[in-house]
Amino acid sequence: MASEQEDFLFADQEVSHDTQEGDTGFWDVLVVDDDPEIHSVTKLALSGVEFWGKTLRFHHAYSGKEAVASLKNLPEVCVLLLDVVMESDDAGLNVVKQVREEIGNHAVRIILRTGQPGYAPEEKVIREYDINDYKMKTELTRGKLVTSLMTAIRSYQQICELEQQSVALANILDASQAILGHTDMVSFGKAVVQQLAKIIGALDSGLVAGVTNGSRVIIFGGTEHYEEFIGQGLEQLDNGRVIMQVQNCFDREVHQHTDHDITFLLEGKSRKAAIFVEVEQPPSASQLQFAEIFLTNVGVGVDNIKLINELRDVAYKDALTRLPNRANFVDLIAQFYQPGSDDLVFVLLDIAQFSDINNGLGQEVGNLLLLAVKERLCLEFPQSQLLSRIGADVFGLLLPSQLFDEQGFVDTITVPYQVGEHVLTMHFHIGVCRQADFHHLGLETLKLAYIALNQAKQANKILDWYTPDLEEKMAWRLGLIRQLRQDFEMSKLEVWYQPQFSLETNNVIGCEALLRWPSGNGDYISPGIFVPLAEDSGLIVDIGQWVLEQACKLQHQLSAQDIDISVAVNVSVPQFKVNNYAEQVKSTITHYQVSPEKIELEVTESVVMDEVKTVIETLGELKSFGVEVAIDDFGTGFSSLSYLQQLPLARLKIDRAFVKDIPDSDSGAIADLVISLGRHLGLKTIAEGVETQQQADVLKKLGCDEVQGFLLAKPMPKDELLVFLNATDHDK
Ligand code: C2E
Ligand code: MG
Ligand code: MG
Repeated sequence: MASEQEDFLFADQEVSHDTQEGDTGFWDVLVVDDDPEIHSVTKLALSGVEFWGKTLRFHHAYSGKEAVASLKNLPEVCVLLLDVVMESDDAGLNVVKQVREEIGNHAVRIILRTGQPGYAPEEKVIREYDINDYKMKTELTRGKLVTSLMTAIRSYQQICELEQQSVALANILDASQAILGHTDMVSFGKAVVQQLAKIIGALDSGLVAGVTNGSRVIIFGGTEHYEEFIGQGLEQLDNGRVIMQVQNCFDREVHQHTDHDITFLLEGKSRKAAIFVEVEQPPSASQLQFAEIFLTNVGVGVDNIKLINELRDVAYKDALTRLPNRANFVDLIAQFYQPGSDDLVFVLLDIAQFSDINNGLGQEVGNLLLLAVKERLCLEFPQSQLLSRIGADVFGLLLPSQLFDEQGFVDTITVPYQVGEHVLTMHFHIGVCRQADFHHLGLETLKLAYIALNQAKQANKILDWYTPDLEEKMAWRLGLIRQLRQDFEMSKLEVWYQPQFSLETNNVIGCEALLRWPSGNGDYISPGIFVPLAEDSGLIVDIGQWVLEQACKLQHQLSAQDIDISVAVNVSVPQFKVNNYAEQVKSTITHYQVSPEKIELEVTESVVMDEVKTVIETLGELKSFGVEVAIDDFGTGFSSLSYLQQLPLARLKIDRAFVKDIPDSDSGAIADLVISLGRHLGLKTIAEGVETQQQADVLKKLGCDEVQGFLLAKPMPKDELLVFLNATDHDK
């Protein structure tokens, strides 16, 4: 018996030595009793007992005081077998009180034992101090003691788990909250390492790495000395072990552990990441479990950040040039609103005929041109701020007023651009707005520069400045557009027709359809004013189609009356931009059962030059259908002869400008030139705006074929035209 007891004591000593190593293979039980006999009996009774694979390890105290002292040193004690009466009658109960209240140990289970029945604590005390059991020493047979201990240990275990879980869950919650709200990878990465370290009780030192498309591993977050490697490749790290662990984590697709570190694999929806943290001691199984829960939140965070960044990029960056886009520019320019200051100018520049480059040379070349323009602006104007891509072919920038020299700026940007194998000479339209005119809303400031830009375009100038009166003009234009739309929808527009004559026979050979917009007070608003507005607003597409329908209706009526003349219809740039314009014209003509040869489309040189390729194709398709094409206002644009030759033309219309001064200040030299050019190209020529007989005579002499003008007939409503035609000779 004694030797057995010694064995126990020996075992106890060994165990207490192990305790310092943090061994958890035992249930620690503190026996508190002033009677040494009880200690030995208890140990004996419980010898060899095992609960859930762990044996019991006993600690001993012989007074209440001693018990409190040992509990302070041994927080791992799970059960207290406590004598009630020791140095005083209530020494045991005092221990309970101190354990719960002073030490704050709420987990340890307490089994009270007493030799005398009269010392039982009141039920209230048992409940208040969370005492598990109360037994008479005489009751403590081996069987009863084992059951009592087992219940206490199980309950201890549950309490510990609950406590751990609630602490860990609170930690995860805190940690997850701490990583939310980071919108860039760097600060997010740092927060992830810090929070993960907290959860697994690791050091605050680690990194987050991800794999790029090119399968290179990049460090995108880190703490402590890993921070300086952010943005670099993993291979740049100064620690081979870390490189290997992170690389293995990606290669093997599982978490990696060593004695010094753990590397967690994080699989997001769209990408993988590895989180490496340094540890002093391996985390417990439950810590690792909590880490997993946390990592799922991190995964969501990674995807969110990616999304946020992508959204921000989409929202604020131009993908091609990487310059701020329009939305970003609008945000940023607002900061430059400084009443009274006129240090800056906002320059808005639009590449003229950019779509020709795209259509003629391909989008790739178009993109390279945009990049070349950006480069030019960066290089030549290093003092610029806020260089942005504001539209497809529109750039904006701020320059110091003192450095902005109109001519110098234009000269610099019009130096030809080397784009791949091409050398491109580009033209620009530029709108400039002074800082003094800036608005506190960015969008408004942008609008002002656009007003100046549009003004430049309309006036066919390279550059124009914003002035406040432009805005009034703009408001007036907008009002007019609104009114035009309304009147068009209410069928208030009219089409008038102006007859065209052969100079040889004096017969009517055709007529031109001309829009008329009644102003409401008996006058008409000139198409010279409202057609450009309809073009700018896109309204011309519908209106133009309507004019074509009217022309077809007229043509139908004419042929019913056996009047064999053509009807000419003016076509604007935006109409050609409608995808299936040729189809639309063909089906309209077919619908009205009109012979296509009797419909002529008048296009100006600006139409041809706007989108050379599309226009040539469209007109070619219409020509093969039978429709005739005339170049209107010839001589006022900048047609290149090579384009002219490619067009399926029937007529050149000599602009009124080259007719009006004949014969006074103009001998008709330009008209002569146009006529001989037409003859050269095998085209008929018709002169517009012929008001006098002399003009008609000169033109006839020069070899002009036809005329249109007030001399012979003014534009007139359809009914009048029909009367006119019936009274006049016309070609059959
Ligand atoms: P345009 O196509 O060059 O039309 C000829 C213009 O010259 C017409 O002006 C006509 O009334 C005017 N005109 C004709 N003979 C004489 C003359 O002897 N003396 C003078 N001073 N003017 C003469 P209008 O009707 O004011 O039209 C102006 C412009 O508006 C047209 O020039 C055309 O570019 C445009 N336009 C008119 N109708 C339409 C249309 O249906 N669609 C499109 N896209 N543009 C149209
Ligand atoms: Mg015309
Ligand atoms: Mg004309």
